[in-house]
Amino acid sequence: MDPRNLPMKVFEKYEHHGAEVFVMRELKGLHQEFCLCYSCGKFRPDTSENCPIAQRIYELDVELNLVTPVWECGEFRIAPDTDELRGALKELIAFIPEGASPQDYADIFGFSLEDIGEETQVPFLSESFLYAALGKEDARTVRALFRQICEKLGFDFPVLELEAYQLIKEQTWES
Ligand code: SF4
Repeated sequence: MDPRNLPMKVFEKYEHHGAEVFVMRELKGLHQEFCLCYSCGKFRPDTSENCPIAQRIYELDVELNLVTPVWECGEFRIAPDTDELRGALKELIAFIPEGASPQDYADIFGFSLEDIGEETQVPFLSESFLYAALGKEDARTVRALFRQICEKLGFDFPVLELEAYQLIKEQTWES
């Protein structure tokens, strides 16, 4: 619908989220079609990862019984397919190299297994594996950079990591 081509403006009163509100009849229920947030990669309603601007607008809307589509926003980032992206990042976090264990890396780089734990199957991006492979400082740098990528894409890294570890558990049970 093109809002410039509305017929005569007719206002309607109805109950929305427990409060009586007024709306232009022709636009009732259409705010998602016009709101930038619904095409934005930062928009994750009902989660702790939601865009802080969208979250503030939502809380204000609830408090004041408003519906306010975002028409313009400097922080907008076109949404990739977030489910596919999330899945790919989780697969990467859950990736366990078959060719080398932390013990191998501990041997190669001269670390003690005491420092890195005794697991033999640990994901490549885990602290244990990277610590053994690269040493503490570089391991921290790699993880910080990866975390930054996740956060720039709008994901909460600790949440993703938990989900990835859940994925490993499921894959282990299946095999
Ligand atoms: S960055 Fe802007 S468009 Fe994106 S979710 Fe936040 S408020 Fe909406």
